Amino acid sequence: MAFPPFTEEHQMFREAVRTFAEKEIAPHAEAWDREQSFPRELFRKAGAQGFLGVRFDPAYGGSGLDYWFTGILIEELMRGRNVGVVVGLMVQCEIATSVIHAYGSEDLKREWLVPAIRGERIAALGITEPAAGSNVAGLRTTARREGDVYVINGSKIFITNGTIADFVTLAVRTGGPGPGGISVLVVPTATPGCSVGRKLRKVMAHASDTAELFFDNCRVPATNLVGEEGRGFSYIMRLFQGERLVLAYIANSWMREILDETLRYARDREVFGSKIADMPVWRHRLADLMAQLEASRTLTWYATELLCAGDSQAEVYVSMAKLVAGELFKRFAAECDQVFGGYGCMEEYLVARASGGISGFAIGAGTSEIMREIIARRWIGK
Ligand SMILES: Cc1cc2nc3c(=O)[nH]c(=O)nc-3n(C[C@H](O)[C@H](O)[C@H](O)COP(=O)(O)OP(=O)(O)OC[C@H]3O[C@@H](n4cnc5c(N)ncnc54)[C@H](O)[C@@H]3O)c2cc1C
Repeated sequence: MAFPPFTEEHQMFREAVRTFAEKEIAPHAEAWDREQSFPRELFRKAGAQGFLGVRFDPAYGGSGLDYWFTGILIEELMRGRNVGVVVGLMVQCEIATSVIHAYGSEDLKREWLVPAIRGERIAALGITEPAAGSNVAGLRTTARREGDVYVINGSKIFITNGTIADFVTLAVRTGGPGPGGISVLVVPTATPGCSVGRKLRKVMAHASDTAELFFDNCRVPATNLVGEEGRGFSYIMRLFQGERLVLAYIANSWMREILDETLRYARDREVFGSKIADMPVWRHRLADLMAQLEASRTLTWYATELLCAGDSQAEVYVSMAKLVAGELFKRFAAECDQVFGGYGCMEEYLVARASGGISGFAIGAGTSEIMREIIARRWIGK
């Protein structure tokens, strides 16, 4: 039995995305990680293929499909083997723009959503602040209403697409403390008073652009309010479900790429006269990883099914899928990296870029497996 029950339409979409990823991303994947950026042109190319509005209303240039197609989009974009690129594109087509699609006025959709779907205007989502991350309800950036404008003051951090964005969907405080005082505004980054601080250097997802943003008496029209004033927190919480599902798909697909690279290496590399893939200890460890990845993927697919069906359990299953994929990734990348020995610290391997060479100390001066052999021989015997 095939699960998920994909149709020919899903398959055709999968093949179109795969062709795009293999042609437009894969040949540049390593260079873009080294340069810590990727060309703006890629947004346009993805937009021209219809990949930036998969779930959005065809009236705005979207395809009117569902989260299964978003999942396929991610699974196949990740064949390009550059997670930063996929993070940047998904912020554009899901994470920063969904709120405008769901709650924005007709004018906001025409001015910002339509060109974002075409890849002509780049989007970012501004929620996190230096003193408010997990606690979104504690955010401090203010937007004071003065006649027909909002005057914004404050700062945001860790903003994906931050230095390249044409607009930010920005969470701001328009009212009193707590969740009821939060609203969402669309802020064009060319507005006086909006500036980019540092481009932040990361140890993962290197090609994605991550920055600080500052707002100093930045004035935007009151018509840039998304939905109703004071409802921003509930909009954000609702849309976090989609964002979390996206991240589960990215993590699972990244693990699939790392596993493929690891299996290729393990089948090829000979140590002490045998291939790594033939050593019982590694066969069992790799089999464990395969089973765990399959469990994570299946949970993510189930969460997708519930989300598409509008099931009341969707939120908790999406949270479980994100939790399981995110936690598994940490062990997965480290475990695979160990297979590569010293090469697991070299940037040319995807696994090294994914794990940040985390195995360095477990490799140098005798690997952990060799240490285990010495201990086992001495205390367990041959
Ligand atoms: C690569 C990357 C890209 C990002 N892109 C964006 C973006 O585009 N837009 C945006 O707005 N943000 C973005 N973020 C920010 C991200 O959403 C925040 O980092 C995240 O919400 C956590 O906030 P924090 O970093 O302030 O950690 P904190 O909230 O300070 O958490 C620190 C630790 O405390 C724990 N903790 C917090 N609350 C509790 C609790 N109640 N109980 C137990 N433990 C708790 C956390 O789990 C964590 O382990 C990005 C982050 C990264 C790494």
